Amino acid sequence: MKRRERHAETSEASLLKLARSMKPEALGILRSLVERESPSNNRDAVNAIAEYTAGLFEQAGGRSRLHKQREYGHVLQVDFSGGKKQGILLLGHLDTVWEMGTLARMPWKVSAGKIYGPGIFDMKFGVVQMLYAIKALQQLRGGLPRPITVLLNPDEEVGSRASRPFTEKLAKKCSSVLVFEPSAGARGACKTSRKGVGDYRVRVHGRPSHAGLDFETGASAILELARQIEKISEFTDLKHGITVNPGVISGGTRTNVVAEFAEALVDVRVTKTSQAPALDRRFRSLKPLDRRCSIEVSGGVNRGPLERNKQTLVLYRKAKDIASDLGFELPEVSVGGGSDGNFTAAIGIPTLDGLGAVGDGAHAVHEHIVEAEVPRRIALAARLIEEL
Ligand SMILES: [Zn+2]
Repeated sequence: MKRRERHAETSEASLLKLARSMKPEALGILRSLVERESPSNNRDAVNAIAEYTAGLFEQAGGRSRLHKQREYGHVLQVDFSGGKKQGILLLGHLDTVWEMGTLARMPWKVSAGKIYGPGIFDMKFGVVQMLYAIKALQQLRGGLPRPITVLLNPDEEVGSRASRPFTEKLAKKCSSVLVFEPSAGARGACKTSRKGVGDYRVRVHGRPSHAGLDFETGASAILELARQIEKISEFTDLKHGITVNPGVISGGTRTNVVAEFAEALVDVRVTKTSQAPALDRRFRSLKPLDRRCSIEVSGGVNRGPLERNKQTLVLYRKAKDIASDLGFELPEVSVGGGSDGNFTAAIGIPTLDGLGAVGDGAHAVHEHIVEAEVPRRIALAARLIEEL
């Protein structure tokens, strides 16, 4: 194997040994990140963790930039200079889905080989993994083999509206993108394809009237919306991986009023980029059954799918080889959730996602990582930075 020619066979062993010796310190840093709560919708909290994290990467020799945002926290970019190879982007986010105060009922906890805490799996461990992969390369090789840009976004959990331009711009300068979102399953699988994600808002305007005195002149927006939801649900096509979920519904004012207004918020997922326009046409062509009502549709797919294409497979196969040299198997999976990796793949930059923590419970109360996997994940990241 070429890799074996370049590095002594003991290279993997010494890297793993180093990663194991770094584990206590890395977990200390991880705890400091978990205990800095950072819900996407709390700008000050995300700013604080971005500033703190910038300091951590600066201590490792990076040059950090905090891109201020109006609505969300800072976008954190850190650049490391390195050898002659083309630069690589390490992508992740600092925000979590957990509200401030969650820590009080879901504290950092180590139990039976698992470490629990809000955001630990999605994806504060991934941030620590990037940092310690860089440190490991510096210690073991005396420097970095290539320039590295670390991009940590403040708004991934709410659709990445503010950070998307940064993600795309920085990815374009790089040969590939490694995404340290959590891995999948007990064996820590990579995510070689992700569905595209979007949402629609379907608003119905009816004709209000008194439910007792004047029932017949009313046209209920609620009734109309209920009928439309039946239709919308039929857009789901499980065979082709298209799902449509009316997840939020609201409308009406009082029980004795025929509702003037009702709306539904609908989550959509597609497997292929080409499925989005057809789905969009179906939403746009919704017609009211009661002609006195009108329907307004807005939204669309905002994160195109990460398709399992050739570029991704090349990266995945390298990662799989590296993992096997490190002594473990690295499976691949396809998942329904989107990430910022969807953006970079969509603009044609080779992207490999799900390189982060092994664990479970993203967005759930049992969110945790598996402690024993920590050194291997750091080593995997380090070798990928070197090899790609
Ligand atoms: Zn995430």
